[in-house]
Amino acid sequence: MTVVTRFAPSPTGFLHIGGGRTALFNWLYAKRHGGKMLLRIEDTDRERSTDAAIEAILDGLKWLGLDWDGDVVYQFARAARHREVAETLLAQGRAYYCYATQQELEEMRELARKEGRPSRYDGRWRDRDPSEAPKDVKPVIRLKAPTEGETVVEDEVQGRVVWQNKDLDDLVLLRSDGTPTYMLAVVVDDHDMGVTHVIRGDDHLTNAARQTQIYQAMGWDVPKMAHIPLIHGSDGAKLSKRHGALGVEAYRALGYLPVALRNYLVRLGWSHGDQEIFSTQEMIDAFDLKNIGRSPARFDFAKLENINGHYMRQSKDEDLVNAIEAILPEIGAERGLGPTFSPELREKLTAAMPGLKERAKTLVELLDSAYYLYAQRPLKLEEKAATLLGEGQPRLAGITDKLRGLNEWNAQSVEAVVREHAEAIGAKLGQVAQPLRAALTGRATSPGLFDVMAVLGRDETLLRLQDQLKDAPAA
Ligand code: GLU
Repeated sequence: MTVVTRFAPSPTGFLHIGGGRTALFNWLYAKRHGGKMLLRIEDTDRERSTDAAIEAILDGLKWLGLDWDGDVVYQFARAARHREVAETLLAQGRAYYCYATQQELEEMRELARKEGRPSRYDGRWRDRDPSEAPKDVKPVIRLKAPTEGETVVEDEVQGRVVWQNKDLDDLVLLRSDGTPTYMLAVVVDDHDMGVTHVIRGDDHLTNAARQTQIYQAMGWDVPKMAHIPLIHGSDGAKLSKRHGALGVEAYRALGYLPVALRNYLVRLGWSHGDQEIFSTQEMIDAFDLKNIGRSPARFDFAKLENINGHYMRQSKDEDLVNAIEAILPEIGAERGLGPTFSPELREKLTAAMPGLKERAKTLVELLDSAYYLYAQRPLKLEEKAATLLGEGQPRLAGITDKLRGLNEWNAQSVEAVVREHAEAIGAKLGQVAQPLRAALTGRATSPGLFDVMAVLGRDETLLRLQDQLKDAPAA
């Protein structure tokens, strides 16, 4: 049997982090078994589905590196086929027309409320002769679900889950306007697409029971099911924006690498011993359903940042510059940068990258730590830097002239000057280097000061000192 999985998002919003994980698990399972992952856009809710959301979902998947097999299937376009199945069930006596009015349904709900039990349709049209049908009511089609016995889902994650059929009412397959319900559409599509494994959030577990009844009524094989616990926030509460329930595109703009997010997501609810870092091939080789936990995974930004830092340190300098440039349209403007890097800045960034990438956890931090490379004069000093410079000004008296006297400008030659200067005034190196760093980078921390000065070059270094030091004569 060839494994066929599918990712079936509803395009009512962006691809959020939980959806990204569901897609990843489906993708991994398919890859692990040499199968296929299909993509179905469940756009039957016409009011809430938007083209923008469809685009965001496709973009999000592509950015995460999760490709799908074949063409995207759009559920709404298959409505005629869904109707056909409802009518087949009707013809086979496995479904029936129900003429209950809104008012009657409301009365059933009211009664259930009074009796303190869950509301369910009472089956009043189940065995009634359609000749009794009121002329002015358009019927829905309901499944003639079993009333006795059990419906069982042998879930790959949740284990054996049992429902008493008396608790499940006759669900609507086709609405009175002829549109299929979600429950019918999912079953027909999964069957027609040859899906062998349904891997999705455990908020769909009850749907799984209802869907199983439709499969059985049609005499179709029920696919294997795996319902994954949802992701919770770090405090255990349901995931909200505050916890990180953002769209995948937000993680991109926050400066995470797709490889890092993928690695973080695979461990969110699934484990393979103590291993935290997985190459894509390692993930594929190790992924299985039985090591998905039964309790909700907790979203932990700090862990995501650590994994991202790991992958950034491993990345080629060029690649990091390109990755930052890819998000410049989102993060550049507020830093005074255009949508692409100039060739000069690109060169400086690449040269500084080995020092920068050691510390940063995200691409945004990386760009911020490179502020000294693209800052416009006169630099705006961070508060800490301003304090350092304020205190250290007197110790820098005369240093600009000494630097100006250098014949050769490189990390070694500037280091020699700064060291000599510190010695001459009886100060420790740090007491000179710290305020100097503040003046040149606007920050209290930066990559090695002498490398910074070398990358900035003589002219820019002297001009920045002139801007910030009271004693520095004009160049
Ligand atoms: N469209 C559903 C959702 O986005 C998923 C349905 C399914 O996976 O069966 O929650």
